[in-house]
Amino acid sequence: MHDTQAYKHISSLAVEDNGLLGQRAWPEAAHAYRSPFARDCGRILHARAFRRLAGKTQVFTRSQTESDHSRSRLTHTLEVAQIARTMAEVLGLNARLAESLALVHDIGHPPFGHAGERALDGALQAHGLRFDHNLHALRIVSSFEERYAAFPGLNLTLGVREGIVKHSRDYRAEEYPELGEFLLDQLPPVEAQLIDLADEIAYLTADTEDGLEAGILELGAVRDGVPLFAARYAKAERAFPAASQRLLRNEALKQMLNVLVTDLMEEIRSQVSELGIDSLDAVRRAPRRIAVLSAGMEAEREVAKQFLYANLYQSETLEAEHRRAAEIVQTLFDAWVADPDQLPADHRARVGSQGAARAVADYIAGMTDGYIEQAWSRFHLA
Ligand code: MG
Repeated sequence: MHDTQAYKHISSLAVEDNGLLGQRAWPEAAHAYRSPFARDCGRILHARAFRRLAGKTQVFTRSQTESDHSRSRLTHTLEVAQIARTMAEVLGLNARLAESLALVHDIGHPPFGHAGERALDGALQAHGLRFDHNLHALRIVSSFEERYAAFPGLNLTLGVREGIVKHSRDYRAEEYPELGEFLLDQLPPVEAQLIDLADEIAYLTADTEDGLEAGILELGAVRDGVPLFAARYAKAERAFPAASQRLLRNEALKQMLNVLVTDLMEEIRSQVSELGIDSLDAVRRAPRRIAVLSAGMEAEREVAKQFLYANLYQSETLEAEHRRAAEIVQTLFDAWVADPDQLPADHRARVGSQGAARAVADYIAGMTDGYIEQAWSRFHLA
């Protein structure tokens, strides 16, 4: 049953293809039949850093799972893109901008998932620097990708670059003068605001499935600990009394995803009417972000997330891998900062302008899990 009224468009808030946000640092002629954001989707999809997501950890760092179909950061990214595109289309927003932002949202992630990111950030702090995967993503698309003769990087639209920086957090203009072009005193468009929750909805449901498949989570514990899941599981049991536990679990996860996405879209629409928002400009100047879950669903989301932290992300099985990942990142970082001549030529060339610590961090951040494992093996043989 489709209730089209319930999904009335909020297209007056959409980012326009031919506005300021569709412009590029190096002006390019319009394409015959692709919008600026459709072109950005293509540029991101064809980037080297995008392909490397296939070799990067989402949750499971190595072989601690018997499952052969856990998500990689690439398949996670595609799931986020599917969710973000759906929401943007249903709401009448700029779906290609939302899709571009979803495709690029994890491109700045180092190997070994969040353990790798924490280790790299910690290593840089000893040199007075930080690692931030959003800012790293901006550097990848602005300079590290080399595909075009006319300009460095991918020359993405202002809308996509702004969204890369601002989708998940606010940066204070005084602290980040280099981000001045991204209107730091204004909120991002809804297409960017919804990426963070599309990401969270994707991983809450997917990591629960992967955790169960890997045998780290137990179905009974998920049902006891995550009411959002338990309610959908009970409903599936009533509808399909003869179905296997695995099918009931899949039904429950699918419904959980659906409920979260639907709640988010409905809440965006109520925020829009509550705050009287009728334009992109009004979104930017609103007192708060409008891509949020309803209060009740936000509380359910938080419970589900805390459950995954306690039982999956910080489980002893994964923490052992996290400690190993941190040791590898820290040891290789220190060794290469002490002797930057060991870096490949293109990274060594940046030591002069960026300093050894940043150049080494950029090198490590670009690696897949497999590549850094090989470097680690060679380090021990040397
Ligand atoms: Mg993500």
